[in-house]
Amino acid sequence: MKVLVINAGSSSIKYQLFDMPAGDVPAKGMIERIGEAQSQLTHKYDGKTHSAAVTAKDHEQGMQVILQTLADPTIGVVKKVSEIHAVGHRVVHGGEEFTGSVIISDQVVGSIERFADLAPLHNPPNLTGIRAAMHALPDAVQVACFDTAFHTTIPPVAYIYGLPYDIYEKYRVRRYGFHGTSHRFVARRCAKLMNIDKTKANIITCHLGNGCSITAVKEGKSVDTSMGLTPLEGVVMGTRCGDIDPAILFYLADKGYDIKKLNAMCNKQSGLLGISGASNDMRNLLELSAQGNERAKLAIDIFNYRIKKYVGTYTAVLGRLDAVVFTGGIGENNAFIRKEVCSGQTQIGIDINDKRNEAKEPKERLISEDNSRVSVFVIPTDEERAIAGDTYELAK
Ligand code: ADP
Repeated sequence: MKVLVINAGSSSIKYQLFDMPAGDVPAKGMIERIGEAQSQLTHKYDGKTHSAAVTAKDHEQGMQVILQTLADPTIGVVKKVSEIHAVGHRVVHGGEEFTGSVIISDQVVGSIERFADLAPLHNPPNLTGIRAAMHALPDAVQVACFDTAFHTTIPPVAYIYGLPYDIYEKYRVRRYGFHGTSHRFVARRCAKLMNIDKTKANIITCHLGNGCSITAVKEGKSVDTSMGLTPLEGVVMGTRCGDIDPAILFYLADKGYDIKKLNAMCNKQSGLLGISGASNDMRNLLELSAQGNERAKLAIDIFNYRIKKYVGTYTAVLGRLDAVVFTGGIGENNAFIRKEVCSGQTQIGIDINDKRNEAKEPKERLISEDNSRVSVFVIPTDEERAIAGDTYELAK
């Protein structure tokens, strides 16, 4: 079965075509700068890359370009687009309603629209992608996979904030958590690598990319996660501040900062970028720090320290810890950060093996000592594969 996975952002659509159940990927790519005079298509197939300027004034047109490309006689990988049996969509917010992936109906579209209130930057473009795909492939099964779904097992003790309870009742203000598809994927992979049933494994998963979140997975289920009502809470990220004293915002409001400015500050001008004053990109910061840039070093140190705090907290939450997993652009590629986060943790049973940690291959590997009580793994995340798997199961 050919399954197309779509991740629609505000001005881009990423796509990957899967042959299921084998899981082969005959083609993948993206259209960027949708809505501008000229958009950019990057299409990868058969070990080759095709880049071209295309016209995509909206997502609808972008989707048409993708489908034409997939069925193109020279660079395409299917004879007709009708070979695509199902489409899996990444959707950021599923509120409290969606505990797993679902086949998209009018009712599901209505709910995703409703939850746009909670994820105004993400759900609307996700929906635009869904509508464009429904229009372009009316006979395909359309499936929605939610970033929040894996975290719907978090108990009230971890999702209710210390605010008046009616704020939750009236507005559904609570911890939702994000990156769920990634945390679920790497936690399951980890249980498999350890040869334990996924319902028995206690794992802390660290998804460290531009956005970062840490999840406590108990017996296969998410029981706590660092992101909250929005992806702003938790560890320090590329441009997001993570946990801060909320009174800082009142204090700054008194100094004349309005809500718009505070929002932009916390989401776009904080984190690694804000602390270093130089970059939100970890690679740049590591270079600057190596050249003696003190603020870049401070940003990296804070980044590591906050992750370490969450690992400690979630060790207490889980009671028994079997494994820690690092994933995402930083988690998968950066030995120094993994070492720092795990340093001095032999008390709780984490003992990193430097050679394994610093090795670049295989990408998926154990990086702790054989006798480390807690196993530590690097596991490349593959959210698209997880979405393709769910879509296949539902479409089948
Ligand atoms: P996104 O959250 O946008 O999907 P990624 O998961 O690709 O982002 O992660 C991006 C981050 O990963 C950036 O901070 C980047 O610097 C970092 N990164 C990628 N490769 C490396 C590397 N080899 N060493 C250190 N950091 C890296």
